[in-house]
Amino acid sequence: MRIAVQGCCHGELNKIYSKISNQNVDLLVVCGDFQSLRNEQDMKCMAVPAKYKRMGDFQDYWLGKRKAPVLTLFIGGNHEASNFLCERYHGGWVAPGMFFLGLSGCVKFGGLRIGGISGIYNDRHYNSGYFERLPLGMSTQRSIYHTREFEVLKLSQLTSSTSDPIDIFLSHEWPRRIYHYGDLPRLLRTKPFFKADIASEELGCPGCEHLLKVLKPKRWFSAHLHCAFEATIPHAGGAEATSFLALDKCIPGREHLRIIEVEGAVEPELEFDTRWLAILALYNQKIPHSSQSHTAAAFEESVIVDKQSEIEKQVLEGNFNIPADQAGFQAILDRFLQDPQILTWNNNKE
Ligand code: 5GP
Ligand code: MN
Repeated sequence: MRIAVQGCCHGELNKIYSKISNQNVDLLVVCGDFQSLRNEQDMKCMAVPAKYKRMGDFQDYWLGKRKAPVLTLFIGGNHEASNFLCERYHGGWVAPGMFFLGLSGCVKFGGLRIGGISGIYNDRHYNSGYFERLPLGMSTQRSIYHTREFEVLKLSQLTSSTSDPIDIFLSHEWPRRIYHYGDLPRLLRTKPFFKADIASEELGCPGCEHLLKVLKPKRWFSAHLHCAFEATIPHAGGAEATSFLALDKCIPGREHLRIIEVEGAVEPELEFDTRWLAILALYNQKIPHSSQSHTAAAFEESVIVDKQSEIEKQVLEGNFNIPADQAGFQAILDRFLQDPQILTWNNNKE
């Protein structure tokens, strides 16, 4: 199986798709700053300096003037149509062939488990709930993309001693301290202004560092810092090391896209990760909706496994394929997320 990995997208879908045309790619993964702007209203909700406020390529895919030539899976960064993506809190299709993983999420593709987390770290909101309400104001259009610990807690339960490993994990920001496992002197030659943040251990996301240690994914891809960087992170107890790759944004002459070969199914399809659906079900009533710290805790392994088996049999009835349209996808979620409280995002009341 061939997977194309792109760093930041910044609305440049046409350039990315033309770069992978005729390359026999089965899947494109984009590590955030996707900018799925449908219209002027979405553009108003995207936090970005004035010089970068442009519609970008996505609108044509939304309007049906163009179609994704390859299945595209993405996470959110810090420049997004946040009003649109928050309607897909649990993930979903944003256009034909373009699937958003959610503020956190995990799917299967060709038998591989692909997980990811959206946003960037900011200590002011890390422990808060989702206090933002639509329409987003100047402040909430920024806080909304600050990664919450609640998502890290859910993702940290993706693996157990009996589950399959995570093959690929995506984050917009790099995991904190990742730079100590690669060619740091070279990184500092290209990005000397990282030096102070690295010395004070402020560069990168601590939640991602935690997830990397707990999940030990085979591969981890990131973007955001606008440079390519590779690292290999060993794990204790004989677990396979994580191979980390960060990529750039679409600038000529810079490495923003890499195609990797992985073992996988011959005709790979997008499928639900049923352990993830169990986690969503278990946390559905616990989604924190205020600026207070959330109080959710981890679940016992047996509770997760029982819920997973219930969802496989009673909700999915043995068919794990993700429906190719948003209505079909949402209909399945609605069957077990009976109280999708996150829709209070559409409600100005606390
Ligand atoms: P974005 O495209 O998301 O607005 O910004 C990414 C840019 O900000 C990159 O050029 C990256 O080098 C810089 N950047 C992002 N986070 C940090 C950080 O924590 N420290 C430093 N020094 N630069 C950062
Ligand atoms: Mn970014």
